[in-house]
Amino acid sequence: MAEAPPATLRLVLDEAALATNWRTLDAMSGTALTGAAVKADCYGLGVARCLPVLLDAGCRNFFVAHWSEVEAVLAHVPAAQLSVLHGVLNPAQAAYARATGVRPVIDSLQQAQVWTETGGGRCDLMIDSGINRLGIGPAEVADPLIQRLEVEVLMSHLACADEDSAMNTRQLETFRAVVPQVAHRQTSLANSAGIALGPDYHCDLTRPGLALYGGVPRPEFNDRIRQVGWPEAALLQVRNVPAGATVGYNATFTAPGPMRVGVVSLGYADGILRSWAGAHFASGERRLSILGRVSMDMIVIDLAQAPDLREGDWVSLPYHLPDAARQTALSQYELLTVLGRRFR
Ligand SMILES: *Cc1c(COP(=O)(O)O)cnc(C)c1O
Repeated sequence: MAEAPPATLRLVLDEAALATNWRTLDAMSGTALTGAAVKADCYGLGVARCLPVLLDAGCRNFFVAHWSEVEAVLAHVPAAQLSVLHGVLNPAQAAYARATGVRPVIDSLQQAQVWTETGGGRCDLMIDSGINRLGIGPAEVADPLIQRLEVEVLMSHLACADEDSAMNTRQLETFRAVVPQVAHRQTSLANSAGIALGPDYHCDLTRPGLALYGGVPRPEFNDRIRQVGWPEAALLQVRNVPAGATVGYNATFTAPGPMRVGVVSLGYADGILRSWAGAHFASGERRLSILGRVSMDMIVIDLAQAPDLREGDWVSLPYHLPDAARQTALSQYELLTVLGRRFR
């Protein structure tokens, strides 16, 4: 079949910014090693492009959530450097873990049993220190099923690291009490935000995700974390809209006077949701307001500030995550992970 022509949308990835962010988080992690959460296709920015950059920066510990995410990561990373956070629910997953050499993060007594009964071997262990998501409770640590595990990374996960919450200290204390009770090689507690909570939280290995990709979960990261990715799209059409005419689905915008507008090929399927209404695109320093609703996979923008733009020219969507989160009422995590597959 003929090769498809180039797409009219793209995700710009600033690889230098990604590398800088990893090094910044590594420096902020003090003496601890710094890993990377690369689940959800590097939070939507793409494993194939991000992994080589992270490796090159020096990262050697990677975390995904699902077994389905393993293959793409193993194209770049040795199996011994990868862990699967969801652990092993059944013998099929345990068999896959052994076949690939990737470590499961054991999350329950049931999982410990599955792992041991199918042959055991090196694994990580998640302690639930209060988030009540995944992990074994502190009281279960003494269970022989846990004591028999060959634990590489003993970890826990913070629920409120992006806030100054008393819960952070409580979780730290809970985790610290567990650490001497299980044999292990390394300890790990902090996600991105947890790194900013200080050396007590760093343990042996930190596990940033969001901040690698440009997220700013705490003010300590202001001016230190750089934006990594943003969408750009080509103008599919330039139109002249007369005064009084409406734009887009449900006709929510009425032109106050004659307007020159552009139609941009971005929309819901690309992760640009209706909550972007009222925001703007950019062409260099110039702001191009979004008019009316995001209408399925198109957005209409005002070209008043950019009379030189023609069909086929590219405009970008400012995607500075803290600003975009305020603007759209989506979280910084959502803004990254909703980015659609058409960007690939
Ligand atoms: C996703 C995840 C991380 C990374 O968290 P961020 O807040 O994105 O830095 C770290 N650890 C675990 C267990 C996770 O699930």
